[in-house]
Amino acid sequence: MKVCLIKASAESEFKKYKKYMGAPPQNIFSVAACTPSDVHIEMVDETMDMKVNFETNAEIIGIFMSTPDAIRAYELAFEFRKRDKIVVLGGLHPTFNKEEAIQYGDVVIVGEAEGIWEELLEDYKRGTLKTIYERETPVDMSVLKSYPTNIIDKSVYKGVWSVLVSRGCNNRCAFCAVHPFFGNIRYRPVEAIVEEIKNSGASIVELHSDNLTSDREYAKKLFKALIPLKIKWVGETTILLAEDDELLKLAAESGLTYLLVGIETPSNDALKNVGKGFVSRERVKEYIKKFHQYGIAVDSAMLFGFDEHDETIFHEVLKFVDEIELDVCHSVIAIPFPGTKLFETMEKDGRLITRDWSKYDGRHTVYKHPKMSPIEIEKGVKYFEEKTYTLRRYLKYLKVLPKFI
Ligand code: SF4
Repeated sequence: MKVCLIKASAESEFKKYKKYMGAPPQNIFSVAACTPSDVHIEMVDETMDMKVNFETNAEIIGIFMSTPDAIRAYELAFEFRKRDKIVVLGGLHPTFNKEEAIQYGDVVIVGEAEGIWEELLEDYKRGTLKTIYERETPVDMSVLKSYPTNIIDKSVYKGVWSVLVSRGCNNRCAFCAVHPFFGNIRYRPVEAIVEEIKNSGASIVELHSDNLTSDREYAKKLFKALIPLKIKWVGETTILLAEDDELLKLAAESGLTYLLVGIETPSNDALKNVGKGFVSRERVKEYIKKFHQYGIAVDSAMLFGFDEHDETIFHEVLKFVDEIELDVCHSVIAIPFPGTKLFETMEKDGRLITRDWSKYDGRHTVYKHPKMSPIEIEKGVKYFEEKTYTLRRYLKYLKVLPKFI
């Protein structure tokens, strides 16, 4: 039997953002990792511009997607079903829109795939496929297998390999789908991570976690174990990592060179109202300075369109990112992803303007804002970007990148 696993990716700014970090994506790689060894696997990551082969001889096509890529994924599903393939849809978007997704595929996977993917393949062999596969309990992280390194050539990711560290987060930020999808944080055993990094042969690794240092004792153990590997790594966690000097020192010693944090906005009220009050505008500058002392570049998205924002926010954020000396900044219009508290509230209040998922890409305003029109927000973000991408900032950016590369 042969399966083809596709990460669908529409042409959009969302794709550019994902491609920027360009590491193996969790969805198709974790499914490949749990696929039984007697099943042949083909993989396509559209984010990295890999081309889909519609004439593949795979019997089952697994298409995984986030919300901005849903329409692209459904187009792919349509093409494969025309060719009599069994289409399985999974990932964040189908999990929170299963009735919609089942109109486009034969099977929908809800939530994490391990355990139910293997069951689905067995059912296919027996001719007893169901339409929905859903786990009842979170995956036991200690049984996860390594991502395969022999299907998509490593050069596709420009030498950056991804190793899964954890799933989930104990916070519940209103705009974030991590907790609704994965629940509370669960970590893989440190030994399994070290082994996987060694076997991958990669010298630059994304330690995949949505909140890497949530459990500081675990993180210290992991970082100590990474020091002998002499790798460089990139990771994502809250800016509160800077509060713990011992942890920060270990992170740097183990190879942390590029850190993604969620600073989101200088508006403390907005942060508090979306459940992210633990990030305080007043401390951010001091935290970033500490990262810089260890040679760590800091990257954060700045979100526009919180209810607390008005037309002054664009200029305020410009001043703020300069003041805090943020190294890399991505501007994003807040996206009410299905499954999040933000989506639920906006839907209940009748504020969603569209369900054209391709517009849920961080470039379009898809909801009514209390103080600004959608056009004002979109123009404001363009203004912010024009002012941000000046030559001076670009030169600074070029200074940051080599540390990582
Ligand atoms: S935004 Fe970050 S801290 Fe908040 S819930 Fe999502 S992963 Fe956790």
